[in-house]
Amino acid sequence: MNSESKDLKELFDLADRVGRRRYHRLTQQDFEDYRKYDYWRCVNGDGECGSTRQSKDWIDENSDWNCPICEQRYADRGGRTIDHKLPRSQYPWLSMNFENLWVICQMCNEEKGEMHWYEYEHYVFIHSPKLYSNVQAARPSLLLKSLKS
Ligand SMILES: [Zn+2]
Repeated sequence: MNSESKDLKELFDLADRVGRRRYHRLTQQDFEDYRKYDYWRCVNGDGECGSTRQSKDWIDENSDWNCPICEQRYADRGGRTIDHKLPRSQYPWLSMNFENLWVICQMCNEEKGEMHWYEYEHYVFIHSPKLYSNVQAARPSLLLKSLKS
């Protein structure tokens, strides 16, 4: 393991520990946001691509023709999806935080799955080094810092 991936591993471990601690301080608003996202995105049907007026508009405003990760056209990669940079399952209080949302293609979303951000960076670094700079550029630095507070 080289020094850069070792750093990522340490950062991932840190964020994971901090994230778990925050779990004990979830508020009612956190839970409401968590549920709101289900409705806002609409999990069923083609809802991955946004099914409310607001989420459709948000997708239009926050994407163009190509996925920011793989750089391929959405149309060739299963279409647009809304992804949580920091997974909603681990960070439910960030469900409706727009700093945490971005539009990526269906195939990249499936590959990313429930990986923590640093885990995902590490994964791309190892498996798709040419795309690593794309993922690194999208790192939600402020959110990751906020996990430490
Ligand atoms: Zn993609």
